[in-house]
Amino acid sequence: MHIAVIGTGYIGLVTGTCFAEFGVEVTCIDVDEPKIAMLNEGNIPIYEPGLEDMVRRNMKAGRLHFTTDVKAGVERALVVFIGVGTPSRDDGTHDMTYAEQAARSIGEAMNGYKVIVMKSTVPVGTGVWLKGILSEYVSEDMFDIASNPEFLREGQAIGDSMRPDRVVIGTDSEQARAILRDLYRPLYLIETPIVFTNVATSELIKYASNAFLSMKITFINEMANICEKIGGDVHVVAKAMGLDGRIGPKFLRAGVGYGGSCFPKDNSALVHMAMELGAPTKLVEAVIEVNDNQMYRGFEKAKEALGGSVEGKVIGLLGLAFKPETDDFRAAPSEVIVNNIRKEGGTVQAFDPEGMAQARQKLGDEGITYCDNPYDAIRGADIMVVVTEWNVFRLLDLERVHGLLKDPIIVDLRNIYEPAAVRGLGFKYDCVGRGI
Ligand code: NAD
Repeated sequence: MHIAVIGTGYIGLVTGTCFAEFGVEVTCIDVDEPKIAMLNEGNIPIYEPGLEDMVRRNMKAGRLHFTTDVKAGVERALVVFIGVGTPSRDDGTHDMTYAEQAARSIGEAMNGYKVIVMKSTVPVGTGVWLKGILSEYVSEDMFDIASNPEFLREGQAIGDSMRPDRVVIGTDSEQARAILRDLYRPLYLIETPIVFTNVATSELIKYASNAFLSMKITFINEMANICEKIGGDVHVVAKAMGLDGRIGPKFLRAGVGYGGSCFPKDNSALVHMAMELGAPTKLVEAVIEVNDNQMYRGFEKAKEALGGSVEGKVIGLLGLAFKPETDDFRAAPSEVIVNNIRKEGGTVQAFDPEGMAQARQKLGDEGITYCDNPYDAIRGADIMVVVTEWNVFRLLDLERVHGLLKDPIIVDLRNIYEPAAVRGLGFKYDCVGRGI
């Protein structure tokens, strides 16, 4: 089978590459010419562990192609995935401009029956909208539409794509269902549950899943804040809660709030959608508010540790990407922290193993120095603040850190250190929800 993937970002590139790995002929299409040129040279534009090797291997095998020519890619394909960005508009709804452009470019390239699959996260009702657009170009018997939301996590994208917990496919067409079942056959063979449903339900499943996961994070952050007041330990609270099979241990790590390209924008879109439908999601509204507060709380913790003001202080900040193992800076908590530090007269020395370029694009150079390694970021700083839990920060030589900081203060917003051990080295140490 030959498939095309429109949009070669985090999702499109991983999806296309993993299908190629399963032996499918894949053409990845993007409007971004430099990105496609880079990929055609075997270099990938994002940081995702293991992806570059897999891209090169499949290009070499002749199964994975990159082009800006939609027509050429779509004409050969039986299944066309749309994986373009659906960013937030100012009002919280999804901006469907790229999705519409992609749909229209498919419409123009239609040369026979195809299944058009929406992989981007899109509002409920998009299936009907997509069908309407395609019908402007070809008759309805020339295509079927399907929703196939993506659940992979950046940083673990390959594992999540090749061995997902489940695949969700929403379509009203028997033919499309059969074609997609065949395409996902390699996952059937490893007994991956495949949930077939209608388009609207499939579209909602993506929002429901993200909202629930972000609610777990937010919930444990609130428990962390209580722990700080009562001398409790949120690690133990999370462990004990997680041992209850009905709750489960995942996504119960207290920290500085969730960020990234999905949870924030998808929750906003869900709230908006639910309001329009007359079925408001008060819980998700609260999750958004509590998460915003938690990110600000991260800044406040640094400020408190510095005696109540960041003015004239230098903050050694470890971690810019919204989470480890990615270079993605979209909606990263570090942005809130850096901007508040700068607003209140402090400066930042920052280091991130992969996220510096994207962060620099968004944050600029005023009041922030981008350093080559964690020790340079700490050198001469008034405080060290851990914002992203990269493994490399876990094993820092804390005695060296002690010598490099102006004052030995650590604010650990990801709980990567043991409080007693760090304090034992002579640091003033604060973390999240470990009032021990
Ligand atoms: P991205 O911004 O990394 O990539 C989008 C790509 O689409 C870009 O390369 C852009 O140039 C390209 N594009 C835009 N318009 C185009 C067009 N008309 N034709 C061809 N290419 C076009 O975005 P992403 O992170 O890959 O996210 C894509 C979608 O997947 C979003 O809806 C997102 O919510 C969803 N999603 C993302 C993740 C994630 O972890 N990143 C996880 C699950 C779902």
